[in-house]
Amino acid sequence: MTVATDDLEALLDQASSGIAFDGLHVAETDGEYALETPDGERAGLDEDALRDALAANGEYVTNWRYWQETVGGAGTARRAFLRWCERAPLADAADEATSTPWTEGDDGAAALAVPERYDALRDGIDREWGQLAITARFVDADDPDGERVYDLWHVDDADADLADLEVHDDPRDARELATYDADGRYRPLKTAPTLPGGWAFTGLSGDDLVETVEFFYPATVANWHRELRGNLDVDHWLETAERQTGIYDVIDELPREAVAWMAEACCVDSQCLRRREWEYEDGDDLDVDGGDGPFPCREPCSLVVAAARKWTTLESEEERTYELELTTSEINQLTELIDAVADGRTDEIREADVYDGANRYRARYLRAKRFDDEGELEATEVDD
Ligand code: SF4
Repeated sequence: MTVATDDLEALLDQASSGIAFDGLHVAETDGEYALETPDGERAGLDEDALRDALAANGEYVTNWRYWQETVGGAGTARRAFLRWCERAPLADAADEATSTPWTEGDDGAAALAVPERYDALRDGIDREWGQLAITARFVDADDPDGERVYDLWHVDDADADLADLEVHDDPRDARELATYDADGRYRPLKTAPTLPGGWAFTGLSGDDLVETVEFFYPATVANWHRELRGNLDVDHWLETAERQTGIYDVIDELPREAVAWMAEACCVDSQCLRRREWEYEDGDDLDVDGGDGPFPCREPCSLVVAAARKWTTLESEEERTYELELTTSEINQLTELIDAVADGRTDEIREADVYDGANRYRARYLRAKRFDDEGELEATEVDD
């Protein structure tokens, strides 16, 4: 690998202050330099000898240059996310000097040392962020100078031919791509797993990649980074509910068990890709799976708050006993209907599939048989 003179000079400029980054260590004592990488150690070097030794360790030099000069931003979410993209150790720049550089990554995938990462970046390193597939790669795979670019597309398009996708390079385009689902319906929850495919962003800079991801999934990188640093500020249900005003003032009256049903309805992976970290209140966890997504949800979102208002009203009603006549198959059919609607499967049930209780003709038949002239289920309230 040829190392650009600029890269070498930039590193030499800082060598006398000491360098410790991603396995590369340079130290100066009384005008003599010591160079250490995982491959070996050289000591007692003058400046020319250090320059030669660094030139022989081009991967470490260009890696240092990319992260310290091009990316910069020590301690920022942007930098941590870009390091996650290429499976680099996730410690802050301040810690990169002292942390074991090749420990496990946050998702269990082993973090890569510089030589392995350079091999992988030639082909591209793939990561998934919700429904986004991200590839980190070298600008020039045949003769890498350390500069990376990033490609981004829908996970379902990972094997698609680029010629079949609509190619974008402006991060702001992501906002429009995320507005409607594949059926043209508005997506009120940006982290719902309904992002349509058919597009690609290619050759993005690191800054543009992070901006694009944040247009698709707002605040996910920042919250992921806060969690990584152990300072995710979680607002649990009760404190969120109690600070509501106006029409949402009532939602703190939603019973605790209903909050669990609500979390099961809205916050599981099939409905939202954020991993719910909020609970009923601090120390009182909901017995509902929070999901496995890479980015956390730190507080009930506006969609959940709005839905909670409706459920608060519904849960304030008293339960009553009704008598209605149904066959065993009809009661089973009601279960199938509710399941199909809750799982969003009604569009998939073919008209000819009359064996499925949620089939449209089966539902219409049940309505014709069991609804009265006012279009309501024939049922009689039973006095207690
Ligand atoms: S509150 Fe639930 S639905 Fe809303 S963003 Fe968080 S996990 Fe998703």
